[in-house]
Amino acid sequence: MGRTSNMTILKLVPESNPVLREPTSLVTDFGDSLQTIIDDMFETMYEVHGAGLAATQIGLDIRLAVIDVTSDQSQQLVLVNPEIIDTSGTQKMEMGCLSLPGYWAAIERSAWVKIRAQDRHGEFYEMEGEGILSEAFQHEIDHLDGVLFIDKLSGLKQKMVRQRAKKALKKHAQK
Ligand code: ZN
Repeated sequence: MGRTSNMTILKLVPESNPVLREPTSLVTDFGDSLQTIIDDMFETMYEVHGAGLAATQIGLDIRLAVIDVTSDQSQQLVLVNPEIIDTSGTQKMEMGCLSLPGYWAAIERSAWVKIRAQDRHGEFYEMEGEGILSEAFQHEIDHLDGVLFIDKLSGLKQKMVRQRAKKALKKHAQK
């Protein structure tokens, strides 16, 4: 996908926004407005150097996420109504979250997952992922279920992450 001038960088909602905490609604309309949202989500994700972005992070309570774990924007994955249908093994990888800037943590997750989702036109597909891709699938699908990765940390660590994120956001706002 080439960049065109009509793309928009979307605003990320703060971690305190309840939209990040609620399960999302299934996407049923694959029309123009969904296509625009998807394009803008990729643009936004690349702008902030993320590997994945869920619709909830931009304030939309719909079951949609975009992922690209490559460094050259060569594998754009659109996950509409995704579900994890199989898993195996465990791994712990350092990951951050665009909703909690400035913090990275290793969470125990499945080393391999298989997902079922729809593409941007509503076609169903299945895909397997391991390593960073497995991590991204689980992280983004968690978002669509109202779960943030810090939920899997201890209470003390969660507090620390929130304080750091708040500071990072403040810094960003002052620019
Ligand atoms: Zn995240």
